[in-house]
Order: sequence, then structure tokens, then C-alpha cells
Amino acid sequence: MADDGMGPAIGIDLGTTYCCAAIWRHGKVEIISNDQGNRTTPSFVAFTDTEVLVGDAAKNQVAMNPANTVFDSKRLIGRRYSDESVQKDLKRLPFKVVAGSNGNPLIMVTYKGKEKRLAAEEISSIVLMKMKEIAEDYLGTTVTNAVITVPANYSNAQRQATKDAGIIAGLNVMRLINEATAAAIAYGLDRKPKKFEEENVLIFDLGGGTLDVSLVTMEEGIFEVRATAGDTHLGGEEFDNRMVDHFIKEFSRRHKKDISSNPRALQRLRTACERAKRILSSAAQTVIEIDHLYDDIDFSSSITRAEFENLSVDLFRKCMEPVEKCLRDAKMDKGSIHDVVLVGGSTRIHKVHQLLQEFFNGKELCKSINPDEAVACGAAIQAAILKGDKDDKINNFLLLDVTPQSLGVETAGGIMTVLIPRNTTIPTNKEMVLSPDYDNQTSFLAKVYEGERARTRDNNLLGEFELSGIPPAPRGGPQITVCFDVECDGILNVLVKDKNTGKRNLRTINDKSRLSKDEIENMLREAKKYRAENAKYKKKVKARNALEEIAYNMKNTIDDEKIAAKLRPADKNKIDDAIEQAVGWLEINRLAQTVDFKRKMKELWSTFKPIMTKIYEAECPYDG
Ligand code: AMP
Repeated sequence: MADDGMGPAIGIDLGTTYCCAAIWRHGKVEIISNDQGNRTTPSFVAFTDTEVLVGDAAKNQVAMNPANTVFDSKRLIGRRYSDESVQKDLKRLPFKVVAGSNGNPLIMVTYKGKEKRLAAEEISSIVLMKMKEIAEDYLGTTVTNAVITVPANYSNAQRQATKDAGIIAGLNVMRLINEATAAAIAYGLDRKPKKFEEENVLIFDLGGGTLDVSLVTMEEGIFEVRATAGDTHLGGEEFDNRMVDHFIKEFSRRHKKDISSNPRALQRLRTACERAKRILSSAAQTVIEIDHLYDDIDFSSSITRAEFENLSVDLFRKCMEPVEKCLRDAKMDKGSIHDVVLVGGSTRIHKVHQLLQEFFNGKELCKSINPDEAVACGAAIQAAILKGDKDDKINNFLLLDVTPQSLGVETAGGIMTVLIPRNTTIPTNKEMVLSPDYDNQTSFLAKVYEGERARTRDNNLLGEFELSGIPPAPRGGPQITVCFDVECDGILNVLVKDKNTGKRNLRTINDKSRLSKDEIENMLREAKKYRAENAKYKKKVKARNALEEIAYNMKNTIDDEKIAAKLRPADKNKIDDAIEQAVGWLEINRLAQTVDFKRKMKELWSTFKPIMTKIYEAECPYDG
């Protein structure tokens, strides 16, 4: 990586259930593992009486603290509380979500004994902050530049909100790119297509919460997305939910008790179901065993792969719809697809393979890229390109992405007049001249929508732009130009101007539920606090691990034959007792503070040191 003073640039796959970060270094992509040595980090944030936990630490305590452990912020971000999909999600999320004053969903948690309301952007920013920190620990330097991936069919508001989350996390979001496109880049890196030969690749990305399908044409390092389609509510969690419902019914049948209103029991069942689902990707049958699941009743059952597939068969079939849509939009038939590339943890499911393979008339599917890491790999390559990396392997790469939905304005009678049709290559701009509806109209309101329906009421309102001060004139006289400009991120800017006077109104499209500048400033301040707390937490974990390590090292030392022979039995017993006491204390005080761990370490050391010093002093002939 060239040292250009801007620092490293990483790629972050901000997934619904897991995140992954990567960097392009020394001519290849490196996946950045976290402090636990894991290559992916759960997108979980937990609030406790003493701290904020993120990633593995948050996921590991979810059953104990279900109401304050937040996940799935990716499903809520950039949406309105009243959205049908949000309302559907709320039914199964174990934490509380309420409507904010501007209509956005706010997550309610208890933190340090006080109620706190957080926007989904804030939760995602805490996850991103964690990924930034993981990268900083790995690279040993500050990291601010990042390319973040989003589902291809994320709306304008969802993209903008994700970018805001990055800003709150202290990142310079170089660009948002679509997940499937990122995966195509990762795939393209390993491919050496014949010169001047086009290859059409279908990327099928089924993750924890979303399905993204993109049809990409690759030629000589140019990745041109031809069409994209997907579902922001179709992924591994939906399959988990089906299995959870199945076992809730079974429990009710067997024990005449309903566990569905007990968040702790539900969370434990969900974790067990997710594990069972993963096992069924390689085994034909598995068991579920949970002690004291509800009312002290142990639950034990089994499920076969066929049963699991049957529970979600309609969902698996639904996964094929975006594939068909993508081919239709790109005006291609199945036969023109050279390779079908599987990305996302849920593509390991047997039935998904089978249906896809059947759809492509028995074609072998490409499993050569790691489904959990491909998106982060592509994002890392894009980050290196934007940073100006001149490596031959990537410097001729060019990414041509598309708009996932049509963008347009409302014209007379509530009609959606499309300026930029879906699947248009970005960046792009288009303009249209409109005229006020009445005589002497002095202001003009442009209502901007995204969606595919003919009437605006069936599409998604992105924002309203008012241009005032138009000189009075008969209808048809004033000419108002509406210009749309879509950036490489897929984010839309709108300019409305009076053709005659040159008067203009320019702004980035601003969904009403989007955070204001002040709100972002506030969140930045809060984020600083979380950062400080996280540093405190890391120190605590370090102190706890150090105590544990020192206790076991002492045990090994006094059990060593040579040393044991020199120790008086009374001294050995004294150290043994102290170690036992410290280990016992650790077991019941895992949540203690750094000072407590340090105090315990000192106590232990004060028993160990004088005894061991005596042995060594006695051994040293030159010791005065
Ligand atoms: P991703 O968003 O790509 O990290 O995918 C996460 C989803 O993949 C989660 O819903 C996981 O339960 C699911 N997943 C991971 N491994 C497997 C597996 N072996 N079989 C089935 N699903 C899996």
C-alpha cells in the first residue's frame, strides 16, 4: 500500500447478522480478524448496567439480556416506524421500538439504569465503530477511510442513513457499494477471462436478512452491473423464525405452555435453531436440547433436513423471483449466464443450491469464493482503487453500478413521471422541464419519488422541493427545470430551477425521517462516550485475562516437578489455596471492574512472590 498520508482504506461488509472487514495489502486482500480471532463479528450491541458491549461480547450475553441487546438495525435503518416491514419486524424483535418525532423508529433500551432511545443509525454506528477499532488494532494505525457495502435494492433513505452511521462512527465513507457488486469484484479478481471476451455472472447473495441478486458483465476488468433485484426481508433469520415457530408449537403441544411471550426463552430457542439450521447444511438430521427452557422444563427434540426445508419451502421458492426479475430486466436468458456465484452464509443451505441449480438447468454453481468474506473483499478492493492504489492486479478495475429503483417526480393527477429508470448505470443525471399548474402560480413544489408503480401514492416519497419567488405569469409560461443527479453511492441530489430567472433550490434529497445536522452532532458526542467506554471495557477484559493467565501459570510453576521438590509442603499449600481462591473468585466475578482484577492479582502475587523468591535466593551462590 502506498504511503500517501491519507492512511489505510478498508472495506466493511455491514451485514444484518455479521460484519466483516478487509484490506488490500501487499497485492492481496487480507480479512481483518477481531480480538477473538474471528473473521466475522456479530452485528450486535448490548446495553448493560455498566457498559456497552459490541460484537461477540454482546451476542454471547443475549439470552441473559434480551430486552437490551440490539441487532437487526440494518432492517430498521432509513425506514419509517409505520413501514409495513418495520411493523412486521417489531413483532419478533425482543427489544422495544417506538416512533420518533420525525416518524423514524427509535430503539428503547435501559443503559446504566436509565432509559435510552437510539436511532438505528446510532446502533449501526456503534457496530461500525467496532469494525474501525478492530481494523486499527490489526493494522496498528488509525483507520478513517472505508468503503461500506449495502444491499443493492436499498432505497435512497437507507443509503443516506448508512452513510450517516459511518460519519457518526468517525469514518470517512469513501463510497457505498452494492454487496453483490462487491462480491463480483472479489470473484473477478480470481478470474482471468479470455481477452476481449465478455462473461455474464449472476451473483446470488443470501445473507442473514437480505437477498441480493445482480447480473454483472465482466470484460477486461470492467464490472458492469446489468440489472439488480432483491428482497430486503429474505435471509437466514426468516428461516430461523420458521424453525422457532415450529418448536414453539411443539412445546405447546407437549407441555401445554406458550413460551412465545418469554423473551429469554425465545432467544435461547432462536440461538439453538440457528445452530440446528447450520448443522442441517451438512447433516441430514440434528437435535435441539435446551435445559430449563421454560418453567424449569428441559426441552429436547430433533429435526430433519427435509422437515426444515418443508417449513421454509415458500421462502426458498421466493428466493428465485429476483433471479427471474434480474434476467428479465437485463433482457438475458438463462443460457447466457456463464457462472452463478454464491455469496452469503445462507447459500450453504442445501435447498437453495438445489433450486438454483434446477433453475439454471443443472448448471454447476460456483462456490470458489468464501461466501462470508467475498463482499468485504470486494469492498476492500474498491477502497484501494479509490485510494489510488496502482497495483496491476486491480488498477484497471472499473465498477459500473446501477440504480436499484426508478426515480421520478409527481406530475398532474398523481402520476409518477420517471426521470431515471431502474437499472440505469450510475453516476447519472437527467432533467425535465415542468410548468406550474395554475395562472400566476408563484411557487412550485416538486415531489420526488422512487418505485416502479404508475401512481405516486404507491411509490416511496423521497422528499419535496419548493421553489418560491416565481414571477406571476399565465399557466404554461414559467418553465421549471427539475434535475436529478445520482452519485456513485446511489444517492440522489435534486436541483429545481426557474429556467427564466435562474432561481434555484439545490439539496441532497432529504427524507423527512433523516437525521438532522444537530442530531448527527449529538450522536457524534454520544459515540465519543461509547468509544471511551469501549476502551475501558477492553482494559477490563485484558485485566481479567491477565489474572486468569497468571493464576494458571503459577499453578503450572508449582506443579513442575523440579520446583515442587524445592517447595515446603506448607508453602505449596499456601500458593495452591491462593490460586484456588482467585480462580473461584473469577468465576463468580467475571463482570468485576479492572481495579478488582488488579487487586486480586496483587493479592495472589503477594503470596506467590516471597515463597518463590526464597527458593531462588537459596539457589543463588552469589546472592548477598
Ligand atoms: P451473512 O449475512 O452472509 O453473514 O450470513 C449470515 C446468515 O448465514 C445467518 O443467518 C446464518 O445463520 C447463515 N449461515 C451461516 N452459515 C450457515 C450454514 N452453514 N448453513 C445455513 N445457514 C448458514
